[in-house]
Amino acid sequence: MYDNILIPTDGSDTANVAVDHAVDLAAKYGARLHALYVVDIDAVNFGLGTEQVDRIKQGNFGEMTELQDKAESATGAVVSAAEEHDIEVHEEVRVGTPHDVIAGYADNNDIDLVVMGSHGRSGVRRALLGSVTERVLRSTHVPVLVVDEHEAE
Ligand code: ATP
Ligand code: MN
Repeated sequence: MYDNILIPTDGSDTANVAVDHAVDLAAKYGARLHALYVVDIDAVNFGLGTEQVDRIKQGNFGEMTELQDKAESATGAVVSAAEEHDIEVHEEVRVGTPHDVIAGYADNNDIDLVVMGSHGRSGVRRALLGSVTERVLRSTHVPVLVVDEHEAE
């Protein structure tokens, strides 16, 4: 049933609780984990030029080390969580609009389950679901397991 599990992560505490669920499921099902961090191209005050975007797409962050650190620590947390289990983890960093990239990745990589947090890094807690999660739910037919932020407390 579950051979390829996608865990989109922004490195937040809530996403990391979702990581624990994804790792447990992957261990039980013998599934491969795909850890995906999306560099949000539309983020306010982000201001990347097309040249920089092209470089990041090729995995070259250049002087943007802070961005690279964020991405690597987010997907790296999945690798660490999976370490003691015999799970294959594929780390992926992409540039774009998070929910589009996540839904597109799910559709094009034989993903049969997405596991993600109810909230992320923004710290805004007024909505039931973060906007990325809400939009992913609307954008894909792949089953999505949403792990509530309160489990992080
Ligand atoms: P908002 O971004 O709407 O202000 P939020 O940050 O609280 O709200 P979301 O961004 O929707 O909530 O985050 C919910 C989940 O979506 C996270 O736990 C994570 O699993 C995933 N996610 C969010 N942003 C990204 C990203 N840039 N790359 C990969 N996954 C992400
Ligand atoms: Mn967010």
